[in-house]
Amino acid sequence: EKRLGNLEKGSEDSKYPKVKFLMEKDRKRILVTGGAGFVGSHLVDRLMMDGHEVVVMDNFFTGRKRNVEHWIGHENFELLNHDVVEPLYIEVDQIYHLASPASPPHYMYNPIKTIKTNTIGTLNMLGLAKRVNGRFLLASTSEVYGDPEVHPQNEEYWGHVNPIGPRACYDEGKRVAETMSYAYAKQEHVQVRVARIFNTFGPRMHMSDGRVVSNFILQSLQDQPITVFGAGKQTRSFQYVSDLVNGLVMLMNSNISTPVNLGNPEEHSILEFATIIKNLVGCKSDVVHVKEQEDDPQRRRPDITKAMGMGWQPKVPMIEGLNRTIEYFRQELFQSSHNQKM
Ligand code: NAD
Repeated sequence: EKRLGNLEKGSEDSKYPKVKFLMEKDRKRILVTGGAGFVGSHLVDRLMMDGHEVVVMDNFFTGRKRNVEHWIGHENFELLNHDVVEPLYIEVDQIYHLASPASPPHYMYNPIKTIKTNTIGTLNMLGLAKRVNGRFLLASTSEVYGDPEVHPQNEEYWGHVNPIGPRACYDEGKRVAETMSYAYAKQEHVQVRVARIFNTFGPRMHMSDGRVVSNFILQSLQDQPITVFGAGKQTRSFQYVSDLVNGLVMLMNSNISTPVNLGNPEEHSILEFATIIKNLVGCKSDVVHVKEQEDDPQRRRPDITKAMGMGWQPKVPMIEGLNRTIEYFRQELFQSSHNQKM
């Protein structure tokens, strides 16, 4: 039951969440690469509930079968254990290409593999889109802007990325993935969509990815000191995962072929996050200040004017999103301590 999270279950006799009925002419066959990951699995829930046929392809590097297990056996659902670096021959109408490690410890774990996934993997998926005459959406990132010299960042900004730094495997990997997408669009007339995704949080995010939201929630739930780098005045903005999923689906089905930022422009200082999360969890942890990290960007905030032009905007209030995420982390911690005892 718990694994369904906030998904509504279908009728009494159905073990699956409720799916809409779509006429065959409206029903699409959709490939989600990286569909067992954090964002991918929420996108899969949305597409399945909308009544489409969904094929998830994942090599389970950072994704988990558990994220999509509530669909296994459903007639509209298929799960492929496959590495995107290897070609794939299937028939689909749309491809959401999300396969790529996303957080620094994951993408730095094997930089060469990260590069292969973002380059060869993206070429494979563009090749597939060309062969089946399908539409391709790339999950790009705000990291293409690097350490930005303009605030907030709009899509016209070309970025400021160090091509040989420790983050380059990911940043440059995504930049060339964008380049490849537009090469296929121009030369082969593949319909491409590019979403530049800013920091996202929510249930099923990785607990130990070392980022602010997960760190602070974990520390609070375990009554450990909440560690803030430096004075904590640096700001961050986070979008809730369901807002991102809405944006991805809208963008895929729009006629905007140039890159679009998807993020929440509401900025909070790190210290504010620490206090808000501590209060929501209701813990006794102290906030402690530790030495500032090197290259810790002071600000990053999306300009979402373009996304708003297609009728999108973030809707989930931060507190609500945080409460849902805290609940998920609480259950995960409970389960792992329970498993250890067994
Ligand atoms: P995630 O790590 O949870 O999901 C990535 C998925 O891709 C995982 O299931 C992983 O197993 C799979 N994968 C990795 N390499 C693969 C390969 N070679 N072949 C097949 N599958 C592979 O991360 P996420 O946060 O869900 O990110 C999804 C996408 O969104 C990524 O492309 C990421 O770059 C992008 N993005 C995410 C954020 C964010 O804040 N979460 C921000 C910007 C961009």
